[in-house]
Order: sequence, then C-alpha cells, then structure tokens
Amino acid sequence: MSEHDIVTKAPMEYGKDRPKAKNPVLIEDLTLRDGHQSLFATRGRTEDMIPVAEMMDEVGFWAVETWGGATFDTMHRFLNEDPWERIRTLKRYIKKTPFSMLLRAQNLVGYRNYADDVARAFVERAAANGMDIFRTFDALNDFRNFETVVPVIKSSGKHFQGCLCYSLTEPRMGGEVYNLEYYVKKAKELEKMGADSICIKDMAGLIAPYDAYAMVKALKAAVKVPIHLHSHFTSGMAPMSQLKAIEAGVDILDTCMTPYAYRTSHPAIEPLVMALLGTNRDTGFDIRKLAAINEVLEKDVLPKYKHLLDDSKVSIIDINVLLHQTPGGMLSNLVNQLKEMDALDRIDDVYAELPKVRKDLGQIPLVTPTSQIVGIQTVNNVLFGDEKDRYKMITAQVKDLCYGLYGKTAVPINSELQKKALKGYPRGEKPISCRPAEVIEPELEKAKQEIKDLAVDIDDVLIYALYPVTGKKFLRWKYGKEEPPEEVKPRTLEQIKAEQELIAKAKAGKLVEKAEKKEAPARGERLRTFNVFIEGDYYEVGVEEVGGAPVISYMQQVPAMVQTVQMPPAPQAKAPAPAAEVKPAAPPAPPAPPKAPMPEAVATDVGSGVTLNAPMPGMIVSYEKKVGDSVKKGDTVVVLEAMKMENALPAPADGVIKAVNFKSGDSVPKNAVLCIIG
Ligand code: MN
Repeated sequence: MSEHDIVTKAPMEYGKDRPKAKNPVLIEDLTLRDGHQSLFATRGRTEDMIPVAEMMDEVGFWAVETWGGATFDTMHRFLNEDPWERIRTLKRYIKKTPFSMLLRAQNLVGYRNYADDVARAFVERAAANGMDIFRTFDALNDFRNFETVVPVIKSSGKHFQGCLCYSLTEPRMGGEVYNLEYYVKKAKELEKMGADSICIKDMAGLIAPYDAYAMVKALKAAVKVPIHLHSHFTSGMAPMSQLKAIEAGVDILDTCMTPYAYRTSHPAIEPLVMALLGTNRDTGFDIRKLAAINEVLEKDVLPKYKHLLDDSKVSIIDINVLLHQTPGGMLSNLVNQLKEMDALDRIDDVYAELPKVRKDLGQIPLVTPTSQIVGIQTVNNVLFGDEKDRYKMITAQVKDLCYGLYGKTAVPINSELQKKALKGYPRGEKPISCRPAEVIEPELEKAKQEIKDLAVDIDDVLIYALYPVTGKKFLRWKYGKEEPPEEVKPRTLEQIKAEQELIAKAKAGKLVEKAEKKEAPARGERLRTFNVFIEGDYYEVGVEEVGGAPVISYMQQVPAMVQTVQMPPAPQAKAPAPAAEVKPAAPPAPPAPPKAPMPEAVATDVGSGVTLNAPMPGMIVSYEKKVGDSVKKGDTVVVLEAMKMENALPAPADGVIKAVNFKSGDSVPKNAVLCIIG
C-alpha cells in the first residue's frame, strides 16, 4: 500500500486536536487572488483583505496566493492602489504562511513579453517585497520564456513552481496535441529547469476526474517534485477531479474560502476538509476556524463586491465550458465585448469561429494573454470579416504571435494568415524561431528616462515599464499631481447601505412620490426618447442633458470601422438625435433591452471630412499622427486598446489630419470620432 492510498479511520470529532494524518493534502488558498479575480473582476482591495488576514494565517495553509495574475494591472488602473504595497501590507498580518504569486513568465504580470532587464528587475523586486513562491507559467508552454525569470527566483532563494498549462483540443485529454505524453514530457523539462514543484494549471476548469487521476499518476511516476493541481469550478468537475487527484497521490490542491468559491472560481475548502476527515490525507484544518473567517467575509467584506457578481443566471455551472472548452473568464469577456458593441446576437457565430481562429494560430492553450488574443481576434473576424477574408482587422498581438514574439505554438500557425499578418510588420516579415526576448531591446533604462522624477524608486519605474499609459496615470495620482477620479475610490459599507436603502425605496415605489413634489422643467429641444422594457412592461423615457457643452449627434451605421460622413452644418448642431435611433414603440415587442444610444462625437468646426471612428470601446494608447500631418490610406493613426489588446487603426483615406479629439489614456466609446482627415 502506498502512502497516498486513502485509509479511513474510525469516525472522530472534528477538533483541531485530532491526530495528524500520515500524508496530509497540502492546501493553497486562492481567496485573495484568483478567487476575487474569477468572481469579482480582480477588484478586491487590500483594506478588505486585512480583516481576515491574521485568521487565515492560523489555518495552516501551505501557501496563500496574494499577488500576480491580473492584480497588478487592476490595482493601479482601477483601484488606485500601489501593487507593491499590497505584498508589504499583507506580510505584516500574514507572518507564518508563505505567499504565492502567479507569474506569467516573460509576460510578468502583463500581456506581452517584456525585455530581459525588466523581467529580472521585476522578479528581484517581487522577492524583495515578500513573495515566496513563484507559480510560473507560459501561455504557450514554451519554457524558453522561463529562462530569464527562473535564475532570478532561484538566486533570491525562492520557490520556483513550474506550470503545465492544461489545454484540450477535444472534450477529454488526448488527441494529437494535448495528450498524456505531452504533459509528461513538459513536466520532465520543468524538473530539469529546477522546478521545486510542478503545477497542473487548469485555468478553464476543463480537467475531468479520470484525466486528473491519470495525469497525476503519470507525473508522480515521472518526476520527484511535489505535484500541485490548480483547477476552476466553471464546468462543475473540479471537486471530483480533486478527489481523484488525491487518490492518485497529488500533493497540493488549490481552494477558496466558501464565499469566494464555485462559479468560475475554485472548489471550496470546507467540503474538502470534511471529505478527508479521519483519513491518512486529512488536511488537519479546524473547520470552525474556517467558518469564523467566512463570517467576517460575508458580513464585512462581500457586501462591497456583490454587485460585481454575475448573477444573471441561477446555475453556477457554465454549460458552455462543457460544450466549447472555452475558459469562463474568456467567455464573459467575449460576451461583454459583444454587448458593448451591440452585437450579442452574434455569440453563436463567435462560438463557431473561435476554434477556427485557435487552429489558425497554432492550437495555443487559452490562458492570459492567449485567451484574449484568440478572443478578440475571433470577435474581430465575426464583426468585421466576411467569407472571402475573415481576417480583415488583425490585432497587433496576433501579428506579434505570428512573428514568434510570444514563443513557439503547439502546432505551426496557418502560413497564409502568418504571411498576411506580417505584411509590413515593423520587426520584419520573416518570423523568428529564437527565444522571443532575444529580439526585445532593453527597456528599463528607457523607462527610467521617460518617467523621470515621477518615479521615486525602482518599484515605481517598474509600474511604468509594465504599463506605460495607466502606470503613468497611477503615479500621478500617487504623488498628488492629479486628483484620482471618483470611480477609483473605495466604497464604504455605509455607502453600500445607503444605496441598498435607495433601491429598496425605489422597489416599494416611494421614490416616485418624492419626484412628484418637484416641478418638471419644460421639455427642451435636446430631449431624447428611449423605450425601456422591464419584464414585459414598456415605458417611454425622455432623457435630456442638463448644461454641458452642446454636442452634435448623427447616425452612423455599425459596425463599419470607418466611413465618410458629411458633418452636419453648424445651425443643426442643437438638433435632437435622429428619430431613427429610437426603436418603434410597438408592444408586443419582445422584452429585449433597448439599444444603447449612439455615442456622440465631439464636433469640430470642420465642414466635411473623413473620420476615423473607434470600432469598439477602448482606451487610447497613442496617436501616431498629429494635427497637420499628412497621411496615406492605411497608415496607422491611432493605437486603441480594447479587451487588453492593442489595435492599430489605419487612416481610411489619404489626407491631412485636421483634428485629433482625444489624448493618450482617454477612454472612448464605440464610434467615437478619434480624428478627422480632410
Ligand atoms: Mn486560475
């Protein structure tokens, strides 16, 4: 009998004094990183982790995941929090339990491969700030992307956990690419690189129980280091897969505290503790301690985050993952993107296109950033492509992937697409085969010179080096050069309570009475009418902007990317939006939400011109041209970031740039006029 075999002893009390198991399953808690990343868009604030931090340190976790993944991006961009400060703060409360972070290898905590000098400095600083375990993965399972960061993890005396990104091309493990032999071979590579443990990183919750069993058994036989299973609940299989992995001898499992578990997150810890109680793989955890932590989370923390939970469905299992093997986070991204573009009705086309795009791009695993790369290119193909040419708008990242800048794909990229994507590619039209970072010029000194005094220390420089646009914005907030906007400020429990009371009042119809006491102003000429459908009821709502600069509205066909428009002459500037914008008020219309109003373009005094419009909502990364510059049709004018991907938007016609309507860092709605070419 092996030490991993489950032996159940006599039933016993679940007190903490029970005898220690011979070979306890070790647990990493993900509540403070992947948990809120999966359920609450990574919006968890440090101040909401502190109330449970000391209690969590007492549980006996093998590690707590506190950093990495999307936290670095989200914190500085949306929460006005210094990412480095979070490690230091939590370390003051969690003193015994090691910290783990998710490191995207040469991608660090961003969405592209950074230069070696930035990668080295980043890992060094993460270790110095208190990170203990570096869970390292590469989206393509190309371990050449580990070659720079691993020696730094090792020389800092830290734990290098190497990941196998678990991916499928069919419903279960096997087939020509992602079969058992593939994973065993990759695991041996990791051990050879000095991995202190190996993690099966099942980011989409695809691993089926018997595949988990077979894989853990095979890995345990092939390598000596501990085997760790990371899975998501998304498909509903993860708790079963965990149990089968335990039977196969897995050493470490990932879980969340109950309020942060399930849905697209991870299995909960408490059922696992109970399931293993009294066996030779007993975790040894005191379930009452876990319950006490949950109570604090439920009462003091989660009311602030509940509104971020996608509760549009009763089911907590995503059937689409079982049908399409698409990661949950990626799916919700796609749905949001389509919603913003008013094209949710194209979702089935997206499902059909996605495996084709993935195959064209070399059957890469779907994990950040490849899930975004495949996802947004799929949306682009569906919205802008046609049967003759699906790839009418190729993102900058797909071009980079075709060049080899992310690494080697599992199977070769479609050569026709590769050729098209690399036409005019600035680094060259011939793809590389070397380690990607070898062609990336050093970036650290350049970043230091660019950010100058706005960066006080190397940690600040790294924020800027990783995220030039939003990082700079954050540093300006941090050092009081600019007032942070309202939406990045934390909300208090009192504010939440006041909001809930308001909603309760509205539901009880009490807000209407209050409104009646106020005399309605006369209807102005800028009044716009919307039809609102709520559960079969239909309302007509008039909306009029009060004050503000006059704006010109005009109809634009969607989703054409660019088009020539006649700018309305000045006298019409105050005309109401065309009536065509409003759906006919004809019940029994289906209770579908009304289409969002067309975004309004800020007008300039240009009589006529060709406009370059935002094909999707996003953030301006940069303008490549300025007012007065001559452009040729097809020249890149604006780089727009949408869904974390950069899109180079070309000039729709030859001409001179007459107006530039936004600046770097501005968020723009779909169809916003980014510039006018005359
Ligand atoms: Mn994950």
